[in-house]
Amino acid sequence: PSALREILVQIPDIGWNDIGGLDDAKQELKEAIEWPLKHPETFEKFGVKPPKGTLLFGSPGTGKTLLAKAVANESEANFITVKGPELLSKWVGESEKGVREIFRKARQTAPTVIFFDEIDSIANARGDGGGDSGVTQRVVNQLLTEIDGMEELRDVAIIAATNRPDIIDPGLMRPGRFDRHIKVENPNEKGRLAIFKVHSKDMPLAKDVKLEKLAKNTDGYVGADIEAVCREAAMLTLRDNLEAEEVTMKYFNKAMEKVKPAYNSEETL
Ligand code: ATP
Repeated sequence: PSALREILVQIPDIGWNDIGGLDDAKQELKEAIEWPLKHPETFEKFGVKPPKGTLLFGSPGTGKTLLAKAVANESEANFITVKGPELLSKWVGESEKGVREIFRKARQTAPTVIFFDEIDSIANARGDGGGDSGVTQRVVNQLLTEIDGMEELRDVAIIAATNRPDIIDPGLMRPGRFDRHIKVENPNEKGRLAIFKVHSKDMPLAKDVKLEKLAKNTDGYVGADIEAVCREAAMLTLRDNLEAEEVTMKYFNKAMEKVKPAYNSEETL
């Protein structure tokens, strides 16, 4: 049976405006991926070689997947997402074939962005990520073969994401491979305000809700935590009164009591 059937090609519906903050990361992705995909002839004319692969690194829940989807969408490209561990398990015994088919599918559906999430699980320098390091090494080698075979100016772009850049196989980070590294920062107060705005934009907010105050009081929260706070505030409101018309500050404060930042490990990045 062909593994091809299992490769899902999507057109993401995430745009830059659905992502709060991360202005530097957005700009770098535009330059590394959107411009070359949309204007290859301009790059040719100027003799500029865009990066083949882009690595997004940052804490869990900071928006790496969102960024990859948004840049595909804004580049009018298709999107194939592959989780590292899936490569090792989904195609047991056929992992290398899986990698080949992902790239083949991408070329067929081009322009396409391939997103390798949790890349550290296969590209672990210590070889202790995927269990069977023989398979892991073969998958990495196949990935390197595919990347090395890619044209520099082409209609397939690759993005990988990790929260452990320190353990990635150095072979993958070499020039001509994942050689553009973009840090996805934990949000500061300004970033958190932008994220609160994104996740409350379709919510009826009471006049007493001060998003600035919420942003100030959520030091250590990442995007995924802020999304959870907003969802929780709405749910707590409904739990008290299913006929409520709006969410008041009281419920945001309660939600912040309940949702604590899940990770706080930026020191390791
Ligand atoms: P992981 O490393 O756990 O895969 P990630 O960095 O890929 O995490 P995402 O999957 O992009 O994180 O984000 C998870 C959810 O958190 C998103 O669906 C979104 O709702 C919210 N989120 C994270 N960052 C942001 C952001 N900057 N702006 C708006 N929403 C965000």
